[in-house]
Amino acid sequence: VQLTVTPIIDGNNTISGYLGIAKDISERKRNEQLKNEFISTVSHELRTPLTSIYGSLRIVNSGVLAELPPKVDKLLQVAEANSQRLTILINDLLDMEKLLAGKVQLNMLSQPMLPLVQEALQAIQSYADQYQVKLSAELASAPLYAAVDAARVIQILHNLLSNAIKFSAEGSTVVVRLIQLRDQVKIEVIDQGLGIPDDFKSRIFDRFSQSDAASNRQHGGTGLGLAISKELALKMGGEIGFNSQLGQGSTFWLTFSQTVTEPAG
Ligand code: ADP
Repeated sequence: VQLTVTPIIDGNNTISGYLGIAKDISERKRNEQLKNEFISTVSHELRTPLTSIYGSLRIVNSGVLAELPPKVDKLLQVAEANSQRLTILINDLLDMEKLLAGKVQLNMLSQPMLPLVQEALQAIQSYADQYQVKLSAELASAPLYAAVDAARVIQILHNLLSNAIKFSAEGSTVVVRLIQLRDQVKIEVIDQGLGIPDDFKSRIFDRFSQSDAASNRQHGGTGLGLAISKELALKMGGEIGFNSQLGQGSTFWLTFSQTVTEPAG
């Protein structure tokens, strides 16, 4: 039950009573839970056949089976690209549902952040090449430790980097910085891309939110990446945020409290 209590103020500015409203929100909660369970069940059911379709298309397109007529080849590549998109969407949906249901187990460990940033950069390199965007890194040389789940930090960085790349112009540079800020470790992903419209800024971390439908359809994506990233960052005790100016670019940042490094020996 949700309770709201409001004082009733009379003409002399004194409180003459209180107005209480009790709202039964158990039904709303139940509906929310049913919706999440539905998303989860459907996503699971879709994932198995889709994995098989995607896998088969990848084999056919790898050229190991036979030389295909160019038109067939083209169509199969379109099918592969789209089944990959669906796979990403379904995995994101399942991830989000697990996070909301509190079913995500984090493997928290105090560790140096540098290798995580380097791994994320390495993994995204071919995507950057595809968009003809350069990657540049400014990484603190002193070891910076934080207590995090390594795989989840890499997942967040992957989201931030792929956004920075896909919303940048060809030939521009995306910079990744790893710095110490007082007692915090901060990672910044800086692009010189499209920037974010002011009226979209407050919704950017919402599920399924995308700023411009037309340009997003061209770029793909699900509108779930930042929602998942935020949930994960908060669950690990970190923070995530951004600064952006439309037409100038955006800086997304991720911070964690610094942990003390193990003394040598
Ligand atoms: P997706 O990238 O799958 O659409 P996200 O949740 O990662 O979903 O991002 C939501 C939206 O926020 C994007 O569709 C885009 O409109 C906007 N956005 C995110 N990152 C950037 C960025 N670096 N530059 C410009 N717009 C961005």
